Amino acid sequence: MTAANLLEFDLDALAAFCEQLGEKRFRATQLFRWIHQKGARDFAQMSDLAKSLREKLAGRATIQPLAVLSEHVSADGTVKWLFDVGGGNAVETVFIPEDDRGTLCISSQAGCAVGCRFCSTGHQGFSRNLSTGEIVAQLWHAEHQLRGRLGTTERVISNVVMMGMGEPLQNYAALLPALRVMLDDHGYGLSRRRVTVSTSGVVPMIDRLREDCPVALAVSLHAPTDALRDDLVPLNRKYPIAELLEACQRYLEAAPRDFITFEYCMLDGVNDSEAQARELLRLVGERGPVGRVPCKINLIPFNPFPASGLTRSSSARVQAFAKLLVDGGLVTTVRRTRGDDIDAACGQLAGEVQDRTNARSRMQRAPIAIQPIDSVVQRRTGAAPSGSATETTR
Ligand code: SAH
Ligand code: SF4
Repeated sequence: MTAANLLEFDLDALAAFCEQLGEKRFRATQLFRWIHQKGARDFAQMSDLAKSLREKLAGRATIQPLAVLSEHVSADGTVKWLFDVGGGNAVETVFIPEDDRGTLCISSQAGCAVGCRFCSTGHQGFSRNLSTGEIVAQLWHAEHQLRGRLGTTERVISNVVMMGMGEPLQNYAALLPALRVMLDDHGYGLSRRRVTVSTSGVVPMIDRLREDCPVALAVSLHAPTDALRDDLVPLNRKYPIAELLEACQRYLEAAPRDFITFEYCMLDGVNDSEAQARELLRLVGERGPVGRVPCKINLIPFNPFPASGLTRSSSARVQAFAKLLVDGGLVTTVRRTRGDDIDAACGQLAGEVQDRTNARSRMQRAPIAIQPIDSVVQRRTGAAPSGSATETTR
């Protein structure tokens, strides 16, 4: 019998596992707290568990972290890890510290099957789903590493965004228990408002998430019309915009926030015209296909990579687009980015996932490799009056 990796289990699953060992649920709770709240790996150190249980666990269970291929820390404390997930695949996790929070950007798959034109992960194709344990291990590693480094026992990560590699709603079975571990008071105790699932629009799974675990939702929209979105986000051919917006409306009934975030990657000459800004306003307004959708728009300057054949909108264009949305009454944020930030920012994570050697050597160019991370660290521009364009982080 192979040992069970306890990072794979939410509290209910851990309780079921413990029951098989003849142990009561409160023992599972203690164990869960040791693993997630204290970052323990070694059963022997779990001093309030009976010795007999610790011995049973030692034979049948492990707490299996991911192997770290590289780690880079930027001057401001932003950290990027590249984790080996076997078979030549690697995934990335990014920690973004800000004054009032610490955000961890987590991957859900090695590669991605959706194949968005502007996304480097999408261009690599799909390797495999991460397991619950591999998703949770990113948080487990980051939280406890950072606590150790900062010399604190306080929580460091206050927010999680599922915006790394992969489409989380195409890995729902593994995602759901992972979300439960994040939210559990005996786990990481994150509030539902502070855990965000970002999706390219897997409509049936948005409904499932609403029923099972309604955390904050970000939807990668990127285009105001089906014709364009079909091209940029191929999943749109299966779940066109009107159906997606209906799913958003349904989601809002259970969502922890009273708006949906729409992400919109600004592509030069593709989706960034004034006419398209107006179309976007109309789409989510009273006269749109599903009526007004309470939302916030997050404009992301495109992070270019050669194979895409696409270029980033000028900042003047982004500002003009943002202004039109703001004038039309939409709360709009612009994610700040810099010229050479192509490797660590959105859509660039583990850019050479199939080629670990290359990824490694690329990561070793430390000053360049860490530079991109700064680009996703945002300066808050003070209180944001509703309907104004501000800068934001993911
Ligand atoms: N698959 C999910 C989550 C991961 S992608 C999704 O698509 O929502 C996280 C965000 O990064 C998405 O909004 C995605 O559209 C955006 N993104 C992908 N590639 C990008 C790029 N090259 N430049 C800027 N943003 C990008
Ligand atoms: Fe997949 Fe998201 Fe990239 Fe599209 S943007 S290919 S859904 S990871």
